[in-house]
Amino acid sequence: MQVQEMAKKTVADIDVKGKKVLMRCDFNVPMDEDCNITSDDRILKALPTIKTILASGGALILMSHLGRPKGQRNEKMSLAPAAKRLSELLGQEVIFIEDCIGPETKAKAQSLADGECMLLENLRFHKEETIKDKAAKEDAQLRQAKDDFAQQLANLADVYVDDAFGTAHRDNASMYTVPVLMEGKPRVIGFLIEKELRFLGEILQNPERPFVAILGGAKVSDKIGVIENLIDKVDRIIIGGAMAYTFLKGRGKSIGQSLCENDFINKGQKLLNQAAEADCEVVLPVDHDVTRELKAGTPHRTAVGDIDPGYQAVDIGPMAIKAFSKKIADAKTIVWNGPVGVFEIPPFDRGTKAIALAVAEATDNGARSIIGGGDSAAAVKKLGLEDRVSHISTGGGASLEFLEGKKFKCLEILDEQ
Ligand code: AMP
Repeated sequence: MQVQEMAKKTVADIDVKGKKVLMRCDFNVPMDEDCNITSDDRILKALPTIKTILASGGALILMSHLGRPKGQRNEKMSLAPAAKRLSELLGQEVIFIEDCIGPETKAKAQSLADGECMLLENLRFHKEETIKDKAAKEDAQLRQAKDDFAQQLANLADVYVDDAFGTAHRDNASMYTVPVLMEGKPRVIGFLIEKELRFLGEILQNPERPFVAILGGAKVSDKIGVIENLIDKVDRIIIGGAMAYTFLKGRGKSIGQSLCENDFINKGQKLLNQAAEADCEVVLPVDHDVTRELKAGTPHRTAVGDIDPGYQAVDIGPMAIKAFSKKIADAKTIVWNGPVGVFEIPPFDRGTKAIALAVAEATDNGARSIIGGGDSAAAVKKLGLEDRVSHISTGGGASLEFLEGKKFKCLEILDEQ
């Protein structure tokens, strides 16, 4: 059964009073060079679940990853600033533990009183956290190492809560092995994951039409699975960003120096044929903002149709902006994943900004819109349009895999209603 078809138990369905609750959250917050948190959005999003557990008399042990320390302690990726910020937000002390496992962590967890909260240090300071299950299956030593690490975490608590949607598509020890080892104890989801599953699940199961998908970003290869899964479900797929050029080259257009995945040209054409058979309209850009050099302040111009040699498409052009916006305007359901240009370097963010605005306007007119995390979420936030879209997913990769129809094994093992 697909995750989106299952109703999972949440923290509201269980009694946590007097229990030690181990909660996997996503405190992978952005920080500046001096380790100041530049956006506490991810901490804010976890608050409803955290507050519910504390108010219900649970003793809460939080665990998360931050960045990619690759199994090594790295002070720049310490979760200490997150503990401080969470304390401020909760108005109560959050005890910070400098390791996520070990005797000291165990002792602190045991002495944690009901209604108290502690945060463990970055899980990824231990390489065992990210050992893939496939590798563990093939190598007994790796399996043992991952199991031992996970067992130490599992031993800390009586209840497991998963509220880390951003890593829901991964088989990290804290996401999968820990709840496996806690079989027999309550294992539930938090309110953030509940919301994500509800929005993403409903949109795929019961979309009001027209249902429009907007896909952008760098690589076709990353989005092939999504396109394949959506062809039968949506009425229209709008394709922008670098990935459009693999499709356009397949259609015989000259694309100059634009990014192109030559190995995927044939697959791209097959997908276009499949879409035509399924009566799913595919919209590609008819013009492009092109430049000789990808850097700020460089001269750029519009190319209609073919792109001259030496030039690279860095954004959709004005006609494409108009056409895309029109195709979004009448939508009743929208999913958007990936920028339609190099939005990090203005003015090549023009297309992405226009798409964000078109999605917001369609939402004002009654559409349900889901922004699939990552760069498209950043664009919507940068424009201050968060309140004019229905849902911004906290997991770019996870929401993409959800739209691909993939199963999340770490969620499948959690308790069902
Ligand atoms: P993804 O992670 O696949 O969603 O890709 C996001 C990246 O795609 C962003 O860093 C954009 O700068 C990049 N991108 C979007 N459009 C283009 C383009 N036309 N040429 C090069 N990179 C692009």
